[in-house]
Amino acid sequence: QRSLVWFRRDLRCHDHAALYHALRQSQSVFCVFIFDRSLLHGLPANDRRVRFIHDSVHELRANIEQQGGCLLVEYADPLEAIPRIAAALEIDAVFVNHDYEPAAMARDADVAHTLSQSGRAFLSSKDQVIFEKDEVLSQSGKPFSVFTPYKNAWLRQLHADGGDFYAKAYPVSDYAAHFASHPSAPLPGLAEMGFSADDAHKMPVPAGMSGASSLFHEFIGRMQNYDVARDFPAIKGPSYLSVHLRFGTISIRSLVRAALQEIRTASQRGAEVWLSELIWRDFYFMILHHHPSVTTHAFKPDYDAIQWETGPQADALFEAWCEGNTGYPLVDAAMRQLNQTGYMHNRLRMVTASFLIKDLGIDWRRGEAYFALRLNDFDLAANNGGWQWAASSGCDAQPYFRIFNPVTQSEKFDADGKFISRYLPQLAPLAQLAPRSLHAPWKASPALLQQAGIRLGDNYPYPIIEHEQARQHTLSRYAVVKKPG
Ligand code: FAD
Repeated sequence: QRSLVWFRRDLRCHDHAALYHALRQSQSVFCVFIFDRSLLHGLPANDRRVRFIHDSVHELRANIEQQGGCLLVEYADPLEAIPRIAAALEIDAVFVNHDYEPAAMARDADVAHTLSQSGRAFLSSKDQVIFEKDEVLSQSGKPFSVFTPYKNAWLRQLHADGGDFYAKAYPVSDYAAHFASHPSAPLPGLAEMGFSADDAHKMPVPAGMSGASSLFHEFIGRMQNYDVARDFPAIKGPSYLSVHLRFGTISIRSLVRAALQEIRTASQRGAEVWLSELIWRDFYFMILHHHPSVTTHAFKPDYDAIQWETGPQADALFEAWCEGNTGYPLVDAAMRQLNQTGYMHNRLRMVTASFLIKDLGIDWRRGEAYFALRLNDFDLAANNGGWQWAASSGCDAQPYFRIFNPVTQSEKFDADGKFISRYLPQLAPLAQLAPRSLHAPWKASPALLQQAGIRLGDNYPYPIIEHEQARQHTLSRYAVVKKPG
């Protein structure tokens, strides 16, 4: 059998389900990656993700070639390219890993259909998650919509055979002899595809399998403190692996194995909490699978009745939020982190999302779309899950009457203003002089502001909304979802 492995969001050549199955079942395995014209079209020239993918594909190709294989790379439309390449190489079966996003599933169905017309198989495997679709169900056989029982069932299932079967690695290298070589053209250039190759648009994290591996090894040493450190954006608490999980430069199974190992050897709370986050990731993929309507609608249907602010005033507020000009330092520093680096700390994603929805009264879908454009790790399932959580419209979301206070969040999670000062240097002197005043500069005395060189309305904005009023407004906006009686 001659096979083709089509890489998409799984840019690694170890512990890779599709590659393993292809190599095990075939005599000759070719590999391909397509820079999808329709997906890239319309992205800004400085999109960091394209650069990350390009660097990662480059490394992937070198690794596959070292093992005697090849990775064909084209800038094309996969609906046309995959059947064409499969025909030219006389391929019997195309192997891929499952993608759970509705648009990608439709694309795969179209490619599979075209391939079938020339008698070629399209074989898809689970790879991105530990458990997918219907693999973790409640006792009554239904998909879960609450996280904790899902997590408990997930863990039970993982340990069911006593050997963590679902987290085992696929031993790709055992079958490396089946890689087939093929002359390869140079990678399509970033400029040729309309993107900048300027290092200024590089992500702050290293790309490729090697980048993932170095980040992960560095994080293992910090995992024990994750439960306490993860909430403070000024310190290195989380793993920063999300972009690698997004593009598959690291295997989810290797992360779960490492977390289990830490839990077993040191029974660390940090590792348990981190594993929980990886389970949230599976949870949101499962929700998207069972409820694809969440991409446009509230998970809880009655929340679709909420009337959001629209019109020029709302547009101006939205713009101030996007640019980090709300007058609330923590919100502004977070939005600047997103705009400048493509990353935003999880605590701040919650704070900024809540601010847009529950302080400014703007539809969560607008914020979701802005994050989708800017986040290096943008992932439809997790992003939608996060936004619907903040909007209270999601499954297992926070209750609608729980409204983050952007000032107290700031006092609690960036008490000395280190994070704020990094992204809003004009406020740094205030952090030095009177850190408590930093979180709500409009309340500081004119003398203090003057001493710190802050001119409200000039080098830092006045707050664009008054939180307490906004809170009351939100409670009445959400009254439509209150159950009668
Ligand atoms: P760590 O804290 O080290 O967590 C490890 C991994 O667990 C992450 O890389 C991620 O894959 C997963 N994870 C952690 N938290 C969550 C979560 N709440 N939901 C699902 N998976 C999680 N995550 C994305 O990967 N892509 C997104 O587009 C995205 N959008 C979000 C939008 C909002 C409004 C919110 C509140 C959260 C969003 N998250 C998203 C979840 C979370 O903020 C990021 O996964 C996390 O900040 C990434 O940083 P890290 O890799 O250092 O995470």
